[in-house]
Amino acid sequence: MTGLDDLPLRDDLRGRVPYGAPQLDVAVRLNTNENSYPVPEPVVEAIAKAVAAELRDLNRYPDRDALALRADLADYLGHGLGVPNVWAANGSNEVQQQLLQAFGGPGRTALGFTPAYSMHPLLALGTGTGWRDGRRGADFGLTAADAAAQVREHRPDVVILCSPNNPTGTALGLDVVTAVLAEAPGMVLVDEAYAEFARPGTPSALSLLPGHPRLVVTRTMSKAFGFAGGRLGYLAADPAVVDAVQLVRLPYHLSALTQAAARAALAHRDALLATVEVVKTSRDRIVAELRARGHAVADSDANFVLFSVPGDQRTAWQTLLDRGVLVRDVGLPGWLRVTAGTPAETDAFLAAMEPLR
Ligand code: PMP
Repeated sequence: MTGLDDLPLRDDLRGRVPYGAPQLDVAVRLNTNENSYPVPEPVVEAIAKAVAAELRDLNRYPDRDALALRADLADYLGHGLGVPNVWAANGSNEVQQQLLQAFGGPGRTALGFTPAYSMHPLLALGTGTGWRDGRRGADFGLTAADAAAQVREHRPDVVILCSPNNPTGTALGLDVVTAVLAEAPGMVLVDEAYAEFARPGTPSALSLLPGHPRLVVTRTMSKAFGFAGGRLGYLAADPAVVDAVQLVRLPYHLSALTQAAARAALAHRDALLATVEVVKTSRDRIVAELRARGHAVADSDANFVLFSVPGDQRTAWQTLLDRGVLVRDVGLPGWLRVTAGTPAETDAFLAAMEPLR
C-alpha cells in the first residue's frame, strides 16, 4: 500500500496529522462548540424554498462576488458597513486562509497568542506562512502592554487575535486591539467567531474599523446562528482588504446553494439567534457550578467553558466519554473544554462530572 512517505509531499507537511476533533456517536456531544439547537422548522422551510429556487439554474456558475449575501451580512453587522467592507467564504476558516494567502505566505510570519484556536497555526502552515507562538498571562488573559511587546519582538506580517478566545473563552479589551494595531507592521486579524455570546460590555473590534485599514474582523454563522453545516464565514474590513482577498479566492468559491441558504438564514436571524441567551445561561451555570465544586474555570464570553480536572485530562476525558458525554481535550495539561448547550445537556455534563471533583 502506498503511504504518505512514498509521495513527493512538501517537506513541511511530512509527519503532520490533519485537524479534527473526534466525530463520535455519543448521546451528549459537547466537543466542537456547535449550537446544540437544531434549525427551527419555519427556518428549515424558508431555507428549503430558497435552495429549491436555485436548482434549475445550477447549470450556471453562482454570483462570483456574492453581492446580495454580502449586503445581508453588512446589514446584520451594522456599524455603518456596506457591501465593499464585507467578504464571505465557506466558513471563517476559509476566510482566514484567504487572508493568510494574501498577507502571509513564504518568507512572512504570523503571530498568535497561545492557547488559541488550533487552526490558526495550521492555516499558517498550509499557506507557507511562518508561525510565531505568542504567550498569554496565567489567567489566559492578554494585556495591551504584553501583546504590544510581543508584536515588537516578532515583527510579524500578520497578528491573529481571537476574542472571545477559543479554547479559553477570554474576551480581549479594545485597548489590546488598539495597542497591537499601533505596534504591528502588518495586518491585524481579530477572530470573533463567538462574538454573539459575549457578556454585556464586551465590545467588538468592528467599532475600530474606521481609520484602521490593516484591521480585519472575521465572523461566522457556525456558532450563534447554528449554521455550522451551512459553512458560511465572513469578514469585515476596509474595502482594500476585500480587493486583496479577491486576488487569491477561487472563482465561484461560494456555491449558489450556500449563498441562498445563508441569505434565508439571515432573513430569519431573530429565530436563529433566539438560542444565544439560552446557551449563555447554560454557560454561566457551568462556570458557577464547576467553581462551586472547586474546579478552576476560565471566565467565558463564548459558548464553551475551559475547566480544570484532577489528574491527567486524558483520563478525565475518557471518564466523561464512558458516561456518555463527549468534551474536548485541547491538549492543555489538566484542562478540558465543554460546549454550553441545552439545559438537559448541561444537566448531563454536570452529572457526569461528579466523579471528577
Ligand atoms: N475561529 C474560531 C475561534 C473557531 O473556534 C472556529 C470553529 N471551531 C472557527 C474560527 C471556524 O469556524 P467556521 O470555519 O465554521 O466558520
